[in-house]
Amino acid sequence: MRSELYIDGQWVKPIKGGTCDVVNPATEEVIQTIAAATAEDVDVAVKAARRAFDKDGWPKLSGAQRAQYLRAIASGIRARQAEIARLEVLDNGKPLPEADWDIADAAGCFDFYAGLAEQRDNNPEETIALADDRFTSKAVKEPVGVAGAIIPWNYPLLMAAWKVAPALAAGCTIVLKPAELTSLTALELAAIADEAGLPPGVLNILTGSGSVAGQAIIDHKGVDKLAFTGSGPVGSKIMAAAARDIKRVSLELGGKSPFVVFEDADIDEAVEWVMFGIFWNQGQVCSATSRVLVQEAIYERFLARLIEETNRIRIGNGLEEGVLLGPLVSKRQYEQVLAAIESARNAGATVACGGNRPEGFDKGYYLRPTVLTDVPLDCDAWVEEIFGPVVCVRPFKMEEEAIELANDSRFGLAAAVMSRDDVRAERVAAAFRAGIVWINCSQPTFTEAPWGGYKESGIGRELGRWGLDNYLETKQITKYVSEDPW
Ligand code: NAD
Repeated sequence: MRSELYIDGQWVKPIKGGTCDVVNPATEEVIQTIAAATAEDVDVAVKAARRAFDKDGWPKLSGAQRAQYLRAIASGIRARQAEIARLEVLDNGKPLPEADWDIADAAGCFDFYAGLAEQRDNNPEETIALADDRFTSKAVKEPVGVAGAIIPWNYPLLMAAWKVAPALAAGCTIVLKPAELTSLTALELAAIADEAGLPPGVLNILTGSGSVAGQAIIDHKGVDKLAFTGSGPVGSKIMAAAARDIKRVSLELGGKSPFVVFEDADIDEAVEWVMFGIFWNQGQVCSATSRVLVQEAIYERFLARLIEETNRIRIGNGLEEGVLLGPLVSKRQYEQVLAAIESARNAGATVACGGNRPEGFDKGYYLRPTVLTDVPLDCDAWVEEIFGPVVCVRPFKMEEEAIELANDSRFGLAAAVMSRDDVRAERVAAAFRAGIVWINCSQPTFTEAPWGGYKESGIGRELGRWGLDNYLETKQITKYVSEDPW
């Protein structure tokens, strides 16, 4: 396990020598002590990234040359997939098969952006048709510069890949800070990039707290673009910091995503997707479909089946075979989710199942998966992101009512609908005010497709070609080509 900062192609101790402990959420044991960077370390990293961008020629490489590095990183991740997945479980708590899936996805993300980097070589510019034929004009895309990326703890390596891969493909250099709770696999990513021969300064990974290391990145004048995934309040701070120097900014924040189940849906299938939508990764998913609206005619049957299946979920250490729900990521997160359930109960909600610690677990941040009903519409559990395995279920009568309830949120990250009537499903999908809409499923995420939210769920889109655009500027080059004097 790595523990130092990766700056300018070197493993270094933090200038002020600070450290922070890494806790395994399944055992509450400290498994590693990692460096806590301060503004001084961030300054060295940003200067290295600046030099790599401004002088060393990273952005001048062809897309195909950069793609070679990206593919080498993808291969390096795959070569160590089992080991990294295990590390992710120790750090984050998620079940091993989920971690394995994430690590494979992270490798796939590097391959995907390698492909886009190569494609840019074939289409380096776009000719613009001008009404005035004395001029020709073209638009070219160029890398933004130095990117500062800050990521959360729910998908530690995958979130790093979502930022690092498009940034490097675009020709940017990057300073990345993983979440202090889950930094171990990001450090392995640095080691893999180093082995892949990535030039010094192109990728810098600094561990440390948000308020010190993170704040120093967002405040640094040498950073041209900020990319963030995490909570709304920190997203606001990042946007405010970006506003001071007009830095480019993309934000992927939380959600309170609805899942509308119509009476013609297959109940077993609906229950399965609803559970996938809220209990995967212990519900610590920004796009989790945490508000489920079920049409009245099937509400009781659906609820009974959901409770039955939820009670059968096997809880345990993510490394144990057959475990489907691991511990929450930290003591703080565990206490926050328990408090949210308690507050819902006090507001009149019914805890239909779960809501407490499973029996037989003395250590670890374990919580039984929870179904809430009768949740008042103004209750925090209905309105605010809980970020845990807690779903609110509510009946509705008519389609219009379901759409109104679904859209009645300050968030707009994702939404899902389930119906055998394709025309209705498409109509509801069109009516959702959300950046990601699933029909007859919930959560499948593809590297090729745009990812991001409406309203307070964020700004900009990651993944796909949209993810590359986050790290590109557009330049017009216009030429006077007429023989006539101007
Ligand atoms: P957070 O937003 O506090 O942390 C996310 C990242 O931002 C971390 O790397 C953190 O160190 C960094 N950060 C914190 N303060 C910063 C600052 N002032 N400047 C720069 N960087 C800073 O999220 P959290 O505390 O890990 O979780 C809190 C809540 O956020 C969760 O309960 C959940 O609701 C939400 N969350 C959402 C997502 C998502 O994917 N949308 C992911 C994780 C957490």
